[in-house]
Amino acid sequence: MSSSKHIAQKVGFISLGCPKALVDSEQILTQLRAEGYEISPSYEDADLVVVNTCGFIDSAVEESLDAIGEALAENGKVIVTGCLGAKEDGDVVKKAHPQVLAVTGPHALPEVMSAIHTHLPQPHDPYTSLIPPQGIRLTPKHYAYVKISEGCNHRCTFCIIPSMRGDLVSRPIHQVMQEAEHLVNAGVKELLIISQDTSAYGVDVKYRTGFWQGTPIKTRLTELAQALGTLGVWVRLHYVYPYPHVDDVIPLMAEGKILPYLDVPFQHANPRILKAMKRPANAENNLARIQQWRKICPEITLRSTFIVGFPGETEAEFEELLDFLREAQLDRVGCFAYSPVEGAAANQLLDPVPEELKEDRRERFMQLQEEISRQRLAEKIGQRMTVMIDELTEDEMIARSSADAPEIDGLVYVENAVNAQPGDFIEVEITDSDAHDLFATMI
Ligand code: SF4
Repeated sequence: MSSSKHIAQKVGFISLGCPKALVDSEQILTQLRAEGYEISPSYEDADLVVVNTCGFIDSAVEESLDAIGEALAENGKVIVTGCLGAKEDGDVVKKAHPQVLAVTGPHALPEVMSAIHTHLPQPHDPYTSLIPPQGIRLTPKHYAYVKISEGCNHRCTFCIIPSMRGDLVSRPIHQVMQEAEHLVNAGVKELLIISQDTSAYGVDVKYRTGFWQGTPIKTRLTELAQALGTLGVWVRLHYVYPYPHVDDVIPLMAEGKILPYLDVPFQHANPRILKAMKRPANAENNLARIQQWRKICPEITLRSTFIVGFPGETEAEFEELLDFLREAQLDRVGCFAYSPVEGAAANQLLDPVPEELKEDRRERFMQLQEEISRQRLAEKIGQRMTVMIDELTEDEMIARSSADAPEIDGLVYVENAVNAQPGDFIEVEITDSDAHDLFATMI
């Protein structure tokens, strides 16, 4: 029996190889103890065995493969790390012992811990641990934000985020996936992926290969979206800049792996203004890109934000933005009148637009978008769709469809409430609409 009153998670450990491998072993063992795992001296008593291997010379390879074989025979649940794990991308181990749960290379503490968490969940003692495995969340139980990176490599002239938070730092992909898994295990039904620049995920680490569930996986948006798409919950991408590689995630939306929803902050449509804003993407291709996305995934919902009244914005440039809006037919749009943030480079630009004019432009912009939104929502009347319940009131259910991110988009009001809970998915038929929301009955 374990000394822990509530959960006995015991890990057996075989450490082979040189002093560098030994240090790796010590680090893994230290981390295991810090997280509340126990170290087991025998195969029979362990819930899982880690074998830290050596791959330096043939005899060391043989000794390592034998040790893995013995652990598999005696225990059955084996994770392999160390130098042999790095040989041929793990294939040497996998070919000899296909039953191993995960293979990593040397100095791979986070990857080893991630594999252990996957196959032997971290002990959680409700009497001593104040933090649940999914962490402390401020959102309702059924949805959660997952931040995949911090900081930003761009220098948009209206923004001071890079000066406050620094350049892009992507979280290791195994860590993001592990957090996502914990959230799903805790009952979360929708993951909202956020960062300053989601499409840039992994640029800072040169799309480094990490490990998740024993499989190599690149630190890159497409691979992340693919992996998240296997968790069986709604996955919604926010703050995605329209770089060309974003096109690769649209098929995942068409296949139903992640929600057909893209939050793309275009900010403006006039090339001169976009240049003055130092925006990362160029305007000319945006319309073509939108058309292409809709061709691949016709049901895609596009959300964006814009700034009007940027210093120097002329009436003609503003009109160009309205034309873009008419043509792009975006589903959800937010608009801000430019306001100078202390420390932003754009404050030095000449020709500030007078406050009244900025406000007037914002109103014209929103009026146009309201018409577009009203029309697009009216086209949904008669359609059937799956919605997720957010809240129950006395006489209706307040829900969201794939087109609605919490807090910022519209809602689906469903009549004839049944015995359902927030986080439940139900099928509805749309009966009515207005400029922002849909009204429906349950099927
Ligand atoms: S607005 Fe520009 S600089 Fe600011 S966080 Fe977004 S991409 Fe980075």
